[in-house]
Amino acid sequence: MARQTAKAIREIACPLKYDNDCKRRRIGSAQAIAPSPAPWLGSRAMGPLQIVWFKRDLRTADHRPLLQASRLGPVLPLLVVEPEFWRQDDASARHWAFCAEGLEELRSELAQLGQPLVVRVGAVEEVLERARRQFGVAGLWSHEETGNGWTYARDRRVGAWAREHGIPWHEIPQFGVIRRLASRDGWARRWEVRMAEPLTPAPASLLPLEGLDPGPIPTASDLALAPDPCPGRQKGGRREGLALLESFLQKRGARYHRELSSPVTAFGSCSRLSAHLAWGTLSLREVVQASRLRGADLRALPAIERAEWPRALRGFEERLHWHCHFIQKLESQPDLEFRALHPLSEAVTPLCPRAALEVWAPEGAKGEAAGPSARPGDQGKGPAVTEREKPLLQGWSETGEGIDAGQGFGPKASERLTAWAEGRTGLPFVDACMRSLIANGWLNFRMRAMLISVACHHLELPWRPCGLVLARRFLDYEPGIHWSQCQMQAGTTGINTIRIYNPIKQGQDHDPQGLFLRRWLPELAAVPLLHLHEPWTLPALTAERLGFRHGVDYPHPIVDPARAARAARERLWARRQERGFSELADAIQQKHGSRRSGLAASAGRARGTGRRRRAASALNNGAIQLGLDLTLG
Ligand SMILES: Cc1cc2nc3c(=O)[nH]c(=O)nc-3n(C[C@H](O)[C@H](O)[C@H](O)COP(=O)(O)OP(=O)(O)OC[C@H]3O[C@@H](n4cnc5c(N)ncnc54)[C@H](O)[C@@H]3O)c2cc1C
Repeated sequence: MARQTAKAIREIACPLKYDNDCKRRRIGSAQAIAPSPAPWLGSRAMGPLQIVWFKRDLRTADHRPLLQASRLGPVLPLLVVEPEFWRQDDASARHWAFCAEGLEELRSELAQLGQPLVVRVGAVEEVLERARRQFGVAGLWSHEETGNGWTYARDRRVGAWAREHGIPWHEIPQFGVIRRLASRDGWARRWEVRMAEPLTPAPASLLPLEGLDPGPIPTASDLALAPDPCPGRQKGGRREGLALLESFLQKRGARYHRELSSPVTAFGSCSRLSAHLAWGTLSLREVVQASRLRGADLRALPAIERAEWPRALRGFEERLHWHCHFIQKLESQPDLEFRALHPLSEAVTPLCPRAALEVWAPEGAKGEAAGPSARPGDQGKGPAVTEREKPLLQGWSETGEGIDAGQGFGPKASERLTAWAEGRTGLPFVDACMRSLIANGWLNFRMRAMLISVACHHLELPWRPCGLVLARRFLDYEPGIHWSQCQMQAGTTGINTIRIYNPIKQGQDHDPQGLFLRRWLPELAAVPLLHLHEPWTLPALTAERLGFRHGVDYPHPIVDPARAARAARERLWARRQERGFSELADAIQQKHGSRRSGLAASAGRARGTGRRRRAASALNNGAIQLGLDLTLG
């Protein structure tokens, strides 16, 4: 055991890069769009070009690669739409719609400078190679990207191409994420330095590349993306991003710190900048600096006018810091997209007893489970869920064998996943959050955390397929934040407080009047507020009088939430007490943990032990907390 632990610690300190399993991606059945035909550039030779490769940085302001390249000669501003990227399981049509709107605007911004954005479809290396053959490439410029496994592998291919042809590839950081970080010590200071650097202006002008066809921007159907209706989706493009920033800092953010946790208020009170940061229509640095400028303006005002703004802005800036803190984890350990950070945590779910997973119908009347519920507007179901995720559920209580403790079989894993993903688990607040996410592409932090927590803890599902469903639906999908958060909430990092959110208490706390529930679960319209968060408590006679048929109009809960939480807590505890768990957790903390708390790994562990004991007794207080309570850095 000791030897195994030592080996695992070595792997944490120096993880293998992706193995082939991790890299392997299932290619959808859709046909790929044909690559842009060659020759793809204008007919006239223009001499060696500086290529500025736009990725998730769709802006000209605070874009260092663009400014620096423009000082050296003619610039080809290039964006390559990669069909293979868009066929991945974490990509969706809503992502593309947001991105395409950003591209349109970027194209016109660049056109005003003299040379519009050139869009080509195909594999980046092939597009670059065609440019090299036709014109020669003096330099390749881009921002550093901490993307998913696929983009990581693609960047390695581009790097190999550049080296083979002796072309310098200048990759410039755009966030506070540090490449090849040797130690987390001092990371927060380095983040500060990056964020305080002056913003980079757009170039005054770009030399026009005559005869060069900018190329069409493909549609979602060109890319064979599955239909993904999202009527409440935010619009892409820098103008939208700037307007959001302005309205948040001047008005909407006044009660941010108080209102960010409830889905009733968060849509208006949160900044809603995440998709713009993920697609780079705004730079993180400009957002940090705008917030600080606003803070300075406020300091000049009398206290009464400042009101609660200083607190709101502090909370906001803290989260901007988290943005990079989380992406840094993926940068330093790319396989966390695929594997549990703590090797002993991976098995938490499949090896547990599944006592809590009986189909739960407290009144004994199980009835027919309702089909997909009526939903407001035309939101639809979004892309198919279980077909894409099914392979990831293999061996995962699909049949109940192996994990059953003889206390009842619940719905299969794929059925649980589908019910969760479609918002019909029978747990009203969970379903309302999921349906709102499907329709809007956004959800506030706490509700995201609750969704994944319920999936992994109450419904006993593995984090990766659940994370994929969410990734496609979050317009702001940012792999570094997303996978770190999914693992954190699923309890597989080994170093974070584990929160088993109580979905009923969350609803009662954050939607006490049931406004959000009634909006997204119209089938509960007849249920009085007293029973709205737990429709199973409605007495049968009252239900009959009100015309509400539980199990027909709205499904019975697929788990007993209290039993499921208890079972989850027990198995998580059992894991954490295994030999070697703490040593591995220390190594993970050393590598990825925040230094803001000023705690060394073992000190944190010691502190956590006390908290663990206290927290364990605080059951059902909205969230059950276990493990190390380390604040983020
Ligand atoms: C399971 C799960 C998955 C998530 N996936 C993503 C994701 O793919 N992309 C994403 O941007 N955020 C993700 N988050 C973090 C957070 O929920 C969103 O950043 C936030 O809700 C976005 O809304 P906003 O822009 O109004 O944020 P605000 O509250 O206004 O915060 C401002 C910015 O700070 C950053 N930020 C805020 N909260 C966090 C956080 N907890 N961790 C890291 N950065 C944060 C974001 O860039 C955000 O835009 C995830 C959270 C969970 C629990």
